[in-house]
Amino acid sequence: MVAVKARRRLGMDYQPILEQIHAEIRPLLDQGRVADYIPELARVPGDKFSMAVRTVDGRSFAVGAADERFSIQSISKLFTLVIALQIAGDELWTRVGREPSGNPFNSLVQLEHENGKPRNPFINAGALVVTDVILSALDNAIETVRDLLRGLSGSADVDFDLGVARSEQETGHRNKAMAHFIKSFGNLKNDPDRVLHAYFHHCSLAMSCRELCEAALFLANDGFAPLSGDRIMTPKLVKYINSLLLTCGTYDAVGDFAYRVGLPGKSGVGGGILAVMPKRFAVCVWSPGLDDSGNSLAGTRALELFTTLTGESVF
Ligand code: GLN
Repeated sequence: MVAVKARRRLGMDYQPILEQIHAEIRPLLDQGRVADYIPELARVPGDKFSMAVRTVDGRSFAVGAADERFSIQSISKLFTLVIALQIAGDELWTRVGREPSGNPFNSLVQLEHENGKPRNPFINAGALVVTDVILSALDNAIETVRDLLRGLSGSADVDFDLGVARSEQETGHRNKAMAHFIKSFGNLKNDPDRVLHAYFHHCSLAMSCRELCEAALFLANDGFAPLSGDRIMTPKLVKYINSLLLTCGTYDAVGDFAYRVGLPGKSGVGGGILAVMPKRFAVCVWSPGLDDSGNSLAGTRALELFTTLTGESVF
């Protein structure tokens, strides 16, 4: 009992654990499949790996290319939601649900049965509606998401990868179909092409594991940004967002992710996964090879090892 208390007070040294994980996941790096439906993402080498941890008491740990930026893709949906909730509050939930979809992140089928109201903000359909909400309220909705991430991460040069945005603009027929379909139900207020343009830019933001940890730390820190001390959200909204991450953040693999990892988290098809342990830390992993649900294969395993080896998860 005394030993446990002492360890908690001093804070765990995560570095040897990250190094052990790095060694253990090496054989998995070539087992996933790099997203190739966005041609620009297909060019990223599949053997990249990095992982970073940032604690609320100010410590940082990392292995691999933790300062190398990658395409954050759907991880941006978390930050778009933060802005939309600040704009619309509970009104948002009249236009998008809060239930896991049980379907792939880019599926259209439920939308037909559910009259164009997406199941949750973390699947593509939901993020399109969320993007529509911020477009209606802000003159510069595209830059606002980037600027939030610049401020939270402390990296003033975080930016869009315009090659990735263009690549998706040219090939994103499924997202285009989805936006027009939602519009047909009246659940987009803006022109669908404008919504898509903003959405593709948000997905194209490039950040490193270290920067993403910094940006998400307010979710582990009762809503306060560690760098500025600013309150980003009330504890109540932080609870809501973390709950949504746990139940909807990793698409139709969300049950498996909760079972194995036990942390609220958000993945993207660039191979990043960002997760938080309330009151303790943010952790981010990047490995571009994906599993069948579009989540990083080695990344999920790395997070599973992390929570198992540290004994720290929300459960
Ligand atoms: N830009 C990607 C898409 O819309 C994001 C999907 C993801 O990261 N899961 O398909």
